[in-house]
Amino acid sequence: MNEHPRERTGTRPVRRRRRGAASAPVGFWSLGILLLCAVVFAGGFFLGRASALEPERRSGEESQTAQGLVRLPQETTPEACETVQEPDPWYLTLINGDHLLDREASAPELTEVSGGHQVDSRIADALEEMLSGARAAGLSPLICSSYRTWDKQETLYESKVQSCLSQGMDQARAELEAARWVAQPGTSEHQTGLAVDIVDISYQLLDEAQEDTPVQQWLMAHCADYGFILRYPTDKSALTGVAYEPWHYRYVGVEAARAIMDGGLCLEEYLAQ
Ligand SMILES: [Zn+2]
Repeated sequence: MNEHPRERTGTRPVRRRRRGAASAPVGFWSLGILLLCAVVFAGGFFLGRASALEPERRSGEESQTAQGLVRLPQETTPEACETVQEPDPWYLTLINGDHLLDREASAPELTEVSGGHQVDSRIADALEEMLSGARAAGLSPLICSSYRTWDKQETLYESKVQSCLSQGMDQARAELEAARWVAQPGTSEHQTGLAVDIVDISYQLLDEAQEDTPVQQWLMAHCADYGFILRYPTDKSALTGVAYEPWHYRYVGVEAARAIMDGGLCLEEYLAQ
């Protein structure tokens, strides 16, 4: 109860002296603090403004136009890059029973190759080089199927369904059976222009014996060098959903083709890696 009166009456001179030392020239110190604050504030303001202008200046060096300074787009941050999912390139597009083409998708740009067949223009050179390679080895490859429009694929499939119906199958059974032989519209790689069926001119039947022809033997050994794969191997039917087709070659680019053919994979397995 006596502490406050004692302080007020100066019984603690040391403490009072300190307080006094700090507050005696009140006007002087207050002014000093105010000036310091002003200097700090002004310095921060000009520094911030200078740094804010810096990117504009750099951009301006590269984008000076008749209209004056143009602000360039901000650079992409590393964090932003990490979150962007790179889509597969066009040549690795997966088409199968679970990955259908969009009917509204625009048709590929087409180029005519050997035999008057049409393929996606981007694979035409690689295909011609592969065929030339086979011919140089004394063989006679023959393209028997190439790009198909949606309507063409639909016609082929419906024709097969009708054939099955005529054999006494009901509609559901006929559609299932037809799909074993002809891809349903939207599920055929031929609709992309990235696939061709090639046979040996001396044996043009599309059956398993095709694999024994010199042309198929050569293609299976060398197709990857040109960016092509045997798309439906005999031991991958469960994964591709398509029976063995030792005549159907699909372009996937040289890197993927070598990995797939050398690794004994199918495209589904390669893309799942
Ligand atoms: Zn085919």
